Amino acid sequence: MFDLIIRRARLVDEQLVDIAIQDGKIAAVGQVSGQAKDERLLDGTVYLSAGWIDSHVHCYPKSPIYHDEADNIGVATGVTTVVDAGSTGAADVDDLWQLTRKAQTQVYALLNIARTGIVTQNELADLKQIDKSAVRAALQRLPGFIIGIKARISSSVVGENGIRPLQLAKEIQQENGGLPLMVHIGNNPPNLDEIAEQLSAGDIITHCYNGKPNRILTPEGELRQAVKKALQRGVRLDVGHGSASFSFEVARRAIAQGILPDTISSDIYCRNRIDGPVKSLAHVMSKFFSIGMTLSQIIDCVTWKAAEGLRLTHKGRLEPGFDADLTLFTLSNEARPLLDSEGETLEGQTHFTPLAAVVAGQWTVTDEGKAKNVFDL
Ligand SMILES: [Zn+2]
Repeated sequence: MFDLIIRRARLVDEQLVDIAIQDGKIAAVGQVSGQAKDERLLDGTVYLSAGWIDSHVHCYPKSPIYHDEADNIGVATGVTTVVDAGSTGAADVDDLWQLTRKAQTQVYALLNIARTGIVTQNELADLKQIDKSAVRAALQRLPGFIIGIKARISSSVVGENGIRPLQLAKEIQQENGGLPLMVHIGNNPPNLDEIAEQLSAGDIITHCYNGKPNRILTPEGELRQAVKKALQRGVRLDVGHGSASFSFEVARRAIAQGILPDTISSDIYCRNRIDGPVKSLAHVMSKFFSIGMTLSQIIDCVTWKAAEGLRLTHKGRLEPGFDADLTLFTLSNEARPLLDSEGETLEGQTHFTPLAAVVAGQWTVTDEGKAKNVFDL
C-alpha cells in the first residue's frame, strides 16, 4: 500500500503517467497498479515535474535589506526547494536555520563568506569580515543546511578590495572540501574577465544575463573570451533575475548563440516579489519562452540541473528513490507583458501557472490551484 498515487499526470514530454509515493520518496513512475491511502486523479491536462528548485533567493526574515518568508516564495508559488544565496554569514546563519524550520518549503543556504551576510550592501569592503575559522565552524554546525558559499564580487560590495575577496572565497572553498561557490557579478571593478579567470568547474556565476558593463557579452554582442574559457572548464551560469540583474537583450543574444543557463533562479525577496519585475520563479521561467527556450529546457533548469549544481543528489528527478518533491502546473496561452530589470518589455505568449507543490509527499495547493479545482481533494 503506497501513501499516495497521483494518476494521469502529464510530463513535459506529454506522456501521461501515474506517480506513487511512499515514505516521502518516489516509489514508482509509469502505469502504477496497486492501492494507496490517498489517490488523486488528474484530468490529463495538468503537468507534473520534479519539484522546482530556486537556486538563488533571499528568505532571511530578519534581513534589514533583502527579507522574505520561505513559503511566500516557495510552496505558495509551486517551488518546493529554495536556496538562500548569502543573506547570512557565519554570525547569523544559525538564526536563518532556526527561522526556516517551520516552513513547508525546504530551505538550504549558501553561506556568505562575510561574517554578517548582507546586513549592509558592502559586506566585503572590509576584509576583516572574512573569517575563515568562523566559516569552517558554521559548516560544521549546520552540515546539510549550508550547501555552499556565496561571494558578491561587484564594486559596491567589495569597495577597494578588487579581486581579493574572490581569491579568499576560492581558498575557503578548497579548504572545505570543494563545496559549491556562487559568485554574484554586477558593476565593475573587478572586471568580469578577471573574475572568470579565477573560477573552476562547478563554480556558479549568478546574474549571468545582467545588462551592466560587466555583462557576459562584448560590446559587439559576442561571448567574452574569459567567460568562454570558464564555461569550457565547467563553470555554470545561473540567472538570478533580481531587481537589477536581468536583461532580455543580453539573454536573447546569448541564448541565440547557444549560451543557455544551467539554472533559472529568481533572486526574489519581498520587494521584487510584490512590485516586480521578479514576482515568482514561475514568472521568471515564463520569460524564457519568449527568448528562445523550450518547456523541457526551462524545466531542466529548475529541477535536475539545479540539483546537480548544488549537489542535492536526492532531488530533481522523477525516479524511484528520489525525494517526493513535485510541482504541478498548467501552461496558459495569452498575450501578457513581461518586464526585465532594465525597463524593456516584451509580450509573453506562454505562461506557467503553478497549481500545487508536493514536498516529501505533503501537498500545498496554490491559490490558482484552488480556483481551478483540478484536484479532487
Ligand atoms: Zn541575491
